[in-house]
Order: sequence, then structure tokens, then C-alpha cells
Amino acid sequence: MNTAASGGRRAATGNSQPGERAGDWRAGLPHSGPGPYAVADGRILTDGLEVIIAEHCNLRCRACAYLSPVMPAATVAPAQIQRDLTVLARSYHALEARVLGGEPLLHPELVAVLRAIRASGVSDAIRVITNGLLLARMPAGFWNLADEISVSMYPGRQLEEDAIATAARTAEKHGVRLRLKYFHYFRESYTELGTGDSRLVERIYRTCQMANVWRCNTVLNGHLYRCPQSAFIPSIIHRPGSGDGLPITDSPAFTGRLLEFLESPEPLDACANCLGSVGRVFRHTQTPRAAWRTQQQHHTEELVDWEHLQTLEREPGTLVRDTSFLPAPIPAG
Ligand code: SF4
Repeated sequence: MNTAASGGRRAATGNSQPGERAGDWRAGLPHSGPGPYAVADGRILTDGLEVIIAEHCNLRCRACAYLSPVMPAATVAPAQIQRDLTVLARSYHALEARVLGGEPLLHPELVAVLRAIRASGVSDAIRVITNGLLLARMPAGFWNLADEISVSMYPGRQLEEDAIATAARTAEKHGVRLRLKYFHYFRESYTELGTGDSRLVERIYRTCQMANVWRCNTVLNGHLYRCPQSAFIPSIIHRPGSGDGLPITDSPAFTGRLLEFLESPEPLDACANCLGSVGRVFRHTQTPRAAWRTQQQHHTEELVDWEHLQTLEREPGTLVRDTSFLPAPIPAG
């Protein structure tokens, strides 16, 4: 896609192929928002592409935005992942593929999954994002294929010191970057009752950093989603007619359709039951599966952090306050 066809985006030219590790074919092009997506060599560029490989989890975090605590146990076959990403790689390239779930280490064919991602050429690097509880069981093939392991540390469910030391030694041996990220607070992520206020839905969508700034584009089962929430919310809310995913198809028109889909100003169906980036802050906790959905039996209006919504409306490029670094004491509410 040339500059004119891409609506004035800065574009680069060159003969590089998807999957090239280093190179300057996209040098200087933006990979995150806000603003239009960059396109180079016919491929849409982003920082990261989320690849969901398992829908369930071995934790029950109260505000899991992926709704994993109530998702049935399901994994995506390596062949499906390879097909989806190989086709997508003709139109899209990310600096890193972020391998996620649910809990990705629950996938029984994880090494084959990582191999499929690598073979697709959709990204330069592979980052696995995990709670780390199964890290000690991972075979050498896992460590050989990952470039980075990000371990999410939750109070009461985090790796012990000796497990961290073991993981650090293994990571160093295999040349893998190991990062630990501590989470103490979350924002409300979704609401069972939603809202009938279309203006509020639009405000939540427009301030949504996942869709419009971080670009948490997500691949699951043959579809690409603007955000993980739109992949999961409809599956448990059962909203009639909802269909927020774009089928990944091997066609010359796909890149144009994908760009239009990613830059659409219209809220998604899932936004009517989502808090986007403006849910109220609360302290992290685990919740039993049976009670997990019950606690979200609220209307959107009850769960919005209105002050934060107004801040993001005033300054659309503002980074969302990272709740993992909020200090004690616990905020009210
Ligand atoms: S469903 Fe809508 S509000 Fe929620 S993360 Fe996706 S784009 Fe944002």
C-alpha cells in the first residue's frame, strides 16, 4: 500500500519479507496509537499482536479482562494458529507476538504453538505472558522458542523466591528475557447488565486505550479482534447479533478490509458491556468461579470511574494510570 492509498500515512518501501528479524523497512513508523495505523510493504504495523492459545486459567482473578475464570477449558490447535498467523502475516506485522490465555502454559502442545508462531513470520519476537505457576514444568523447547517471558505476579498467587531464582537461571541459560510484573489493583473490566446509553458506550470506546492506543489486536480461532474483550464478552453475555471479529481470509482485498476494521470509529458490540479503560479501581483478589459473574451484575454506570473518563476525554493520548504500581493504602471504592 502506498502513501496515498493509506490516507497519508508515512510509508516505507523495500523488499523485506514478513518475519525478518531486524531491518529498517519500517524504521521511524509508529506502531501504537492514537492516530492511523502505519503501513509499510503492504503490511499494517503494530507493537504487539495478542495470540490467544488457551481460554481457561488456573487462577480466578476478580477482574480478568479475558473472562478466563468462567471460560470453558479450551485450547487452539497449533495447525489453526499457524494457518491464521501465516495468512495474517501477509497483511500485518508486529514487533512481538504476545502469547496469552487464559493461562498459556496450560496448552498441552505449547512448544508446537510457539513453533507455529515463529514459522508464520507475523512478528519479530515472541513474548509469553503467564502467571508463571507452571513455569518449572516447561521443557527446553519452550525456552528455546520464547524471546521473553513476562510473569504476572498477583498477591497470594505469585512465584516464591526460589522459583524466581530457578526461572531466572533457566532464562539466562537460554538467552530469554525474564520480566516480573506485580499487580495489586485492577480496573473493573466488564458489566453483565451493560447500558442502553449509546452516548456512554461511545465515550467508553473513544477513550479505550486497548483499542485506540495500545492496539491490543487479538487473534483467536480464525478471527482478528480489535481487543481481547470483544473476543470473550459476547461468548458469555450472549448478545444477539454480536460479531466483533474479522475473519482472517487469504484474499487480495484482506489488507484493505483489515485496515478499515482496525480504524473504524464505530464502537464494537462488546463495548456495551465493557468498561474499556475507565472502570473503577479496586484491590486485586481471587474470586470463586461460581461467584465470578454474580459480582458483575451491575449496570455500566455503576462501574465507571467518571473522573478518569473525563481525564482521558480531555487528553486522548494520556496513558492509563498503570494500576500495578498504585501504592497502598487502597483507594476508596
Ligand atoms: S470491547 Fe470496546 S471498550 Fe472494551 S476493550 Fe474492546 S474496544 Fe475497548
